[in-house]
Amino acid sequence: MVEKVYFAKANRNEAPETLAQKIKKLYHAAGFKSCIDAGDLVAVKMHFGEKGSDTHVQPHMVRPLIEQIKTDGGKPFLTDTNVLYKSARNNAVDHLELAQAHGFTMENVGAPVVIGDGLLGRNELEVEIPGKLFSKVSIAAVALDTDAMIVVTHATGHMGTGFGGALKNLGMGLASRMGKLRQHSAMLPQIKESSCTGCGVCMRWCPVQAIEMRGSVAFIRAEDCIGCGECLVVCRFDAVQHDWKTDTSLLQKRMAEHALGAVINKKGKVAFMSFLISITKDCDCIGRRQSPIVPDIGILAGMDPVAIDTASLDLIRESTGKELADSAYPQIDYRVQLQHAQEIGLGKMAYQLVEV
Ligand code: SF4
Ligand code: SF4
Repeated sequence: MVEKVYFAKANRNEAPETLAQKIKKLYHAAGFKSCIDAGDLVAVKMHFGEKGSDTHVQPHMVRPLIEQIKTDGGKPFLTDTNVLYKSARNNAVDHLELAQAHGFTMENVGAPVVIGDGLLGRNELEVEIPGKLFSKVSIAAVALDTDAMIVVTHATGHMGTGFGGALKNLGMGLASRMGKLRQHSAMLPQIKESSCTGCGVCMRWCPVQAIEMRGSVAFIRAEDCIGCGECLVVCRFDAVQHDWKTDTSLLQKRMAEHALGAVINKKGKVAFMSFLISITKDCDCIGRRQSPIVPDIGILAGMDPVAIDTASLDLIRESTGKELADSAYPQIDYRVQLQHAQEIGLGKMAYQLVEV
């Protein structure tokens, strides 16, 4: 049977009440209730947005889900994990403060926030998976301890994987610090000396002090670099480069295998909702305002992360007449993550779109 992905047209300017109606309609149509048994702890996997960003999924968009989960007998909480790089999200205290500053409060949303891998990202468990690259992956404890999960994703482009959808929200977003490191170590950047001005910004942002100045240009010590990609994002002179084709392919496959690890003990207990609203070139980890690169499309809901990501990319192409990659990272083939996820049994790319 072909997986159904449910779709409602929506845009960021709609009244919260109108959006809430659509979100609840999607919740029912996609059968989210079937994931929740009375008394279940239900993790709603979010991204609270980096400091300075404002295009992430907003509190009023998640509140209807929380209300519905409670109606269905679940005990919802919002969750995300700590990041590897210098950020207001690299420890639970700063992360919680940022979530609160972005409006994810009990009052606004109706559920508490729990940082899923603990104070410093060490609250993790190893999970066995039938992967092609890994036989075990390191996942934030929250993903394994919670009874059910609803994965709320903001679809965007992404500098490492080309597309950031449900698979990325699971695979990177629910990997522990160790799991993130294992994925990112596929990407070791290099400095293009002729473009480097020696401004030192990358040195200040590198989370592991892997960059030093040699003469008037930056130099990355490969033996210390964890491949987090932060220097690629912060350099304003395009002086940090790496081999996208080789590295992104491996990164995407590793990410898909961690995504499998995040849901492998939850058959029938995970549902997905993706927002194709305020779609930006980079993900919500970027600490500045971004302008959308695609007109708002709507909201998708379903039970299969591969199907929902495939549908997201198809809808973007249908809406704009071109691939997301053409407006974001044309050098990256983001279908690698979908195909690999399908190969390891995480889901299927074939789907039937049902508009509600
Ligand atoms: S941020 Fe870019 S230009 Fe500045 S030192 Fe680093 S590589 Fe060179
Ligand atoms: S050199 Fe760049 S990619 Fe490597 S750890 Fe530092 S910031 Fe991350």
